[in-house]
Amino acid sequence: MVDRQHPLAAARRVVVKVGSALLVDGASGRLNRAWLETLCSDLLRLKRRGQQVILVSSGAIALGRRHLGLPPGPLQLEQSQAAAAVGQIRLAHAYKELLEPADVTVAQVLLTLEDSEQRERYLNARATLETLLSLNAIPVINENDTVATAEIRYGDNDRLAARVAQMASADCLVLLSDVDGLYTGDPNRDPAAQFIPTVERITPEIEGMAGGSASAVGSGGMATKIAAARIAVGAGCHMCIAAGHHLHPLKRLEGKKVRCTWFRPLSTPVAARKQWIAGTLRPAGAVQIDAGALRALREGRSLLPAGVTHTQGQFAAGDTVSVLGSDGAEVARGIAGYSDADTRRIMGHKSAEIEAVLGFRARAEFIHRDDLVIL
Ligand code: GLU
Repeated sequence: MVDRQHPLAAARRVVVKVGSALLVDGASGRLNRAWLETLCSDLLRLKRRGQQVILVSSGAIALGRRHLGLPPGPLQLEQSQAAAAVGQIRLAHAYKELLEPADVTVAQVLLTLEDSEQRERYLNARATLETLLSLNAIPVINENDTVATAEIRYGDNDRLAARVAQMASADCLVLLSDVDGLYTGDPNRDPAAQFIPTVERITPEIEGMAGGSASAVGSGGMATKIAAARIAVGAGCHMCIAAGHHLHPLKRLEGKKVRCTWFRPLSTPVAARKQWIAGTLRPAGAVQIDAGALRALREGRSLLPAGVTHTQGQFAAGDTVSVLGSDGAEVARGIAGYSDADTRRIMGHKSAEIEAVLGFRARAEFIHRDDLVIL
């Protein structure tokens, strides 16, 4: 029986992050193949239940360094970039081998920090994930370590996974790692440290509990996990920190009395996103729309370029804009899919004509309904 109250069982879209220390055997530098098979079988189980799954997998550098015969200990930037290039292909291959016999397509997506921090790239990455999921694929994501340099890198996949969860409006994020959750202190040093099963709010006290990393293989410690939790719960997503070294690490989480820490979100992903849009203090610009478009918005549909009659101010794709009715009053707010200049070129045109007008293929909506708040 599936427990629909359980955040993992109830989630529509799940992001699972696995750390290097789980994937790669510390001594041999090889993939923990037997374990990985059980992880993949758990992912397939979620899919069979109708849930959408995104996997954020570390391990590229740890796998690649052995193949290149690099020494243990910290690597130079160029060395870790080279190791990532070698390891990533092996990692992707392993997932393909384990998931595709079950008729699930695996898609590799490599992201950099800019893809989540720059509005336009964020929209792009989000649209790609959305499309892959709608086509029934499992996106396998890692940081694009071969091009990310120290200043422009996440460096840890905990925060990357949280950004992905936010980007994809996921409702559950599971960080599988080598720790079983959050303690009031470092359990390795402080025998009195107490386990915390649930965090309702991330207070300064909670943040104070995060010490340094306990793992020699991965790069994320408890501090990056708490930072990830902040992003996740703010985006309306449940997040769990759990020990991942058990066989069937995800299935196990739905068992009774499993030790792990759940962070509770403040709202749902859609509500969190809409709240954020509605709360934008100063929209970058505005568009005016015709009566037909306004009717469509009120029925819950997206705003198409065809319904836009004017633009005001300068805005880029990804900026929040006001939507004005024909009398000039603000009726909605949303995230623009096009800059003001491109909008002027395509307004009044049917979505099928956009490519011919702009000279490139672009999205059909000016504001997607998920990015739109009626005021
Ligand atoms: N992106 C790195 C890798 O694949 C791992 C980052 C992390 O350990 O969180 O090797």
